Amino acid sequence: MKNLLYIALALTIAVTMVPVNGFAAQRYVTIGTGGVTGVYYPTGGAIAKMVNQKRKEYNLRATVESTGGSVFNVNAVMTGDLEFGIVQSDRQYQAYHGTADWEGKPQTKLRAVFSIHPELVTIVAAADKNIKTVADLKGKVVNIGNPGSGQRGNAIDLFEAAGIDYNKDLQAEGLKAAESAGMLQDGRIDAFFYTVGHPNGSVKEAVAGARKVNFVAVPADITDKLVKKFPYYAKGDIPVEMYPGVANTTDVPTFGVKATLVTNADVPDDIVYAITKEVFENFEDFKKLHPAYAHLTKKQMLEGMSAPIHPGAMKYYKEAGLM
Ligand code: GLU
Repeated sequence: MKNLLYIALALTIAVTMVPVNGFAAQRYVTIGTGGVTGVYYPTGGAIAKMVNQKRKEYNLRATVESTGGSVFNVNAVMTGDLEFGIVQSDRQYQAYHGTADWEGKPQTKLRAVFSIHPELVTIVAAADKNIKTVADLKGKVVNIGNPGSGQRGNAIDLFEAAGIDYNKDLQAEGLKAAESAGMLQDGRIDAFFYTVGHPNGSVKEAVAGARKVNFVAVPADITDKLVKKFPYYAKGDIPVEMYPGVANTTDVPTFGVKATLVTNADVPDDIVYAITKEVFENFEDFKKLHPAYAHLTKKQMLEGMSAPIHPGAMKYYKEAGLM
């Protein structure tokens, strides 16, 4: 018995010595997120934290990068500049199927890992501009989002469904989400779009300023149209109790998508497996890392994926009996 223990000990030492001897160099992966005041950035941090707790076992270290958002992340994952990206479910769908920003250029190597929190198309407006509904955005200065962002496409879809020409009927700006709150408070824009999980830092920052703000409602006939036309849109309401001080007194109707984690088919299976496994096996700890995950379930994390699931993630889902 004792001998067996010694053999086991020797084997353990031999195995753990491998990286020290330099046979297996530390592997690094980067997760593309969004602006630092959004939810993607802390989400990337939460995912990295889960896998980095086992960095010796997996010989893997995950880091996080702040980026321009979903469209940027899809493209960077496709070129191999990033191994992972957090992207809106609508962007995942469009990229894989070759529509919208990828019209005629389907990104066939895009792979889904899992879905994360819900995101709502959030329109924040200066209360002094009296913008109550989408039609009131006409003639206003509106940040619809930088071209790399997810929200820009949602704003464009919304204006189209509302019969508003965003090139003519308003002054559309293309600023990054992290700049929006400050620009609104400084009086340089009247409203901004942000497709984001709630609560989040950017909206809090806008609400906390001296200039009073309100959320803009999307009328039901417009959300009906959007949900009918696009498979990835769903109705949702912005919970006003998360933003004390906002001018609205009841939850604000709008539509939304889901945040999802994507990767490239070329990323090794064992890396994708490790990340998937650590997030799912430490699910309760993961959920505590951001209030936007409050109602998240494992089942929901397997919904909203339109690109094929990466085989490394699939291996875990089968092992865990989730698929
Ligand atoms: N949904 C946004 C985008 O795709 C990012 C939101 C966030 O950073 O939480 O650009």
